[in-house]
Amino acid sequence: MRNDIININRKKSLIRSNELDKIAIDDMEHKSKVRTGFSEFSKKLYENTKNKILKELDATEDDWNDPKWQMKNRISTVDEISKYVSLTEEEYDNIKKVSDEYRFAITPYYFSLIDFNNPNCPVKLQSIPDIRELDEGGQLDPMNEEQSNPSGRITRRYPNKLIINVTNACPMYCRHCQRRRLIGKHDKNTPREDIDESIEFIRNNETIREVLVTGGDALLLPNNQLERIFEKLSDINHVEVIRIGTRVLSTLPFRIDEELTCLLRKYRVQLSTQFNHACEITPEAVRAIDLLVDHGVLVRNQMVLLRNVNDDKYCIQKTNEELHKFRVINYYLFHPKEIKGINHFQVDISKGLEIMKHLEGRTSGMCKPTYVLNAPGGLGKVPLVPMQNIECEDDGYKLITWENKTVRHKFTD
Ligand SMILES: *Cc1c(COP(=O)(O)O)cnc(C)c1O
Ligand code: SF4
Repeated sequence: MRNDIININRKKSLIRSNELDKIAIDDMEHKSKVRTGFSEFSKKLYENTKNKILKELDATEDDWNDPKWQMKNRISTVDEISKYVSLTEEEYDNIKKVSDEYRFAITPYYFSLIDFNNPNCPVKLQSIPDIRELDEGGQLDPMNEEQSNPSGRITRRYPNKLIINVTNACPMYCRHCQRRRLIGKHDKNTPREDIDESIEFIRNNETIREVLVTGGDALLLPNNQLERIFEKLSDINHVEVIRIGTRVLSTLPFRIDEELTCLLRKYRVQLSTQFNHACEITPEAVRAIDLLVDHGVLVRNQMVLLRNVNDDKYCIQKTNEELHKFRVINYYLFHPKEIKGINHFQVDISKGLEIMKHLEGRTSGMCKPTYVLNAPGGLGKVPLVPMQNIECEDDGYKLITWENKTVRHKFTD
């Protein structure tokens, strides 16, 4: 009798297991079409362009791996682009026209990830000026940063945490940057007095337990300047956590070295970064991630949902799974903002919700970030959650599982 039950349960479990296999196999088929930084195609592309650039600039492998060399040799004019790819006259004119308005700069490293044969190459869309940037529509500062700035270069929208902007420079100017009004004009590190004023504000406000040091890209500051900031912040008793915001893991991974990781570890600095597509997760990026994680630095990803770059459920699943595999925490998926010059990246919220619904159950909980929208008026982030998952009924809740099966849960008195 008992054995019969065990046999029946085993049979039912096997049927269920096969059913789950079908779903997984279908997902795997779709995911296999997403290019990653480790696919053969990417490696060839990278080696090809890299060698062309090294030859053109008469540079060595050591130069390539040197972040200073990468910064000094950024590709920032249309003529530099045409040294490595043949542009049509129209493409040439369009890039020129846009870059007169919004400048661009691409590290040779990031440039070498571009597949110029694919008009929707995610790396290209994020880095090469696009004529649609000149379209009208969208606001300049929908976040109202000016009204969240109580002192120095602070942005404060929350009770116990705030941001200090330490620079407005970045290794690569993302075409989708929401802060392009501040970022895209000229590189400027925040003057020391403004940083010190910001730190004084924090020292005088015991409510602040967490400080985000960001930019631009905070890791464009030299180590000694970073250490000066970390030291002063750590000296404040009520500051419990320091976080740093940087995109170098995807745009300039060579910036991450032993000295920097030890510095971050020393002050227990946690790091937030931005990978938007699996093809940005390259062996170079993983070397940098490994160095950080091996030294005990927490690394979190804050992805931006972008039309044609990653607005596809399998693309996001694959990217998040790659990050999970390499020990990066999938923290946020940001809904893009309606800002002048980046409207061609806009996606409807329903698309983001559909992606989140797909991730539910289909993959590890560690691959499911929180989908958020930055509220207008500087009112903070609003989590966007698929609505249909929970409903109130007369005697309890109706819950919907990841496969859209209905279950019920009673009210508690
Ligand atoms: C996003 C943000 C933070 C950090 O928020 P978390 O949800 O803790 O990551 C802090 N201050 C401002 C102004 C922000 O926009
Ligand atoms: S790294 Fe961040 S701040 Fe810099 S250009 Fe890209 S999105 Fe903007």
